[in-house]
Amino acid sequence: MPSFQSMNLKGIVSDLDGVAYRGDSPIPDAVEAFRRWHADGIPYAFVTNNATKSAVDFAAKLTRMGIVAEPEQVFCAVSATASLMRRRWPAGARVFAIGEQPLFEALEQAGFTPAGDDAEVVVLGFDYQLNYTKLSTAVRATLGGAAVVVTNPDLLVPVENGYEPCVGVLMAAVQAAVPSCRPIVVGKPEPLMIEEALGFLGTPREGTIMIGDQIATDILAGQRAGLRSVLVTTGVAAAARLDVTPDIEVASLLELIAD
Ligand SMILES: [Mg+2]
Repeated sequence: MPSFQSMNLKGIVSDLDGVAYRGDSPIPDAVEAFRRWHADGIPYAFVTNNATKSAVDFAAKLTRMGIVAEPEQVFCAVSATASLMRRRWPAGARVFAIGEQPLFEALEQAGFTPAGDDAEVVVLGFDYQLNYTKLSTAVRATLGGAAVVVTNPDLLVPVENGYEPCVGVLMAAVQAAVPSCRPIVVGKPEPLMIEEALGFLGTPREGTIMIGDQIATDILAGQRAGLRSVLVTTGVAAAARLDVTPDIEVASLLELIAD
């Protein structure tokens, strides 16, 4: 593994859950590391597959925990989904979305029209109130030819006492019903949010690292974007991918701080 000092750190892209905090508990070493990077003038941005909150919500959460963060520094699946859709579909396009309020608000602000079975686009996001009627509408619209956009492909989300099913399970259900559909995935391991974060940072790829706790999403997305990847083992362990190896593995983000 290359030493950290040899990386000539210019910028940081980081995952949130499992790196900066676990649920509502900040990870103290991460808070300290980001404070030092902020003091040293090393720019950072955050990318998260969590589609239940907005960038404003995440920035407020980080600030409460002691990490300096503005909404412009946070690239989340909600805003990335809306910006991808703005590029692909005209304002007014009919959209049926499964998700939480921040996703609906982002789609409305992007100018899309809420629809049902007759939607042109089905958006699948995390929804604590997921039910048969919503699944049925998603499947019927997809059978009718709607494109399918998925905020994030995670199958499981770590919670305090184990795991809960995530959006990937909903995507799998729609794909099972409509095998011909080809979902467009927004979140990691697709590199879209990381590209947006790089555009914000303006730092060269060779001097920018991607920090994450999940190999299959964070590390793979970082590699696809051409960044050095750092796996931090403070998150919940997930199934390893033997074909993806992080450049550096640390138990604490403070290991990345050169003294
Ligand atoms: Mg994570």
